[in-house]
Amino acid sequence: MKIQKGDKVKILSGKYKGKDSVIEKVLPKLHRVVAENVNMVSKHVKPSSKTKGGIVKLPKSIHVSTVMLICPKCSKPVRIGYRVIDGKKYRVCRSCKEVIKK
Ligand SMILES: [Zn+2]
Repeated sequence: MKIQKGDKVKILSGKYKGKDSVIEKVLPKLHRVVAENVNMVSKHVKPSSKTKGGIVKLPKSIHVSTVMLICPKCSKPVRIGYRVIDGKKYRVCRSCKEVIKK
C-alpha cells in the first residue's frame, strides 16, 4: 500500500472530490482506506451495556485509488515512487523526488 496511516491525501472522486483529508486507517487486504470526515455514514445503534444507542456517525472506507497523497514538500497531490536507502524502502515524491518520511 502506497498510502499509510497519517498521510495527508486529496480525494479524487465521488461526493468528496477535491477535499483534503488525513488517513485514519488502512485496510491493505481490501485495498481500502478510511479518511477523516470522508464518506461518513449514520448508523443507528441499539442501546447495549456498552453504548447508550442512538445515531452515530462512522467513516466508511473508500478505495485507495480514489485518494492521492499530498506531498509534504510540494504540497500537491503527487504520484509516489519507491527508493531503497540502506536496505530500507522509502516512498518518494515523483514530482520533487523528495523522500516522504514517516
Ligand atoms: Zn513533492
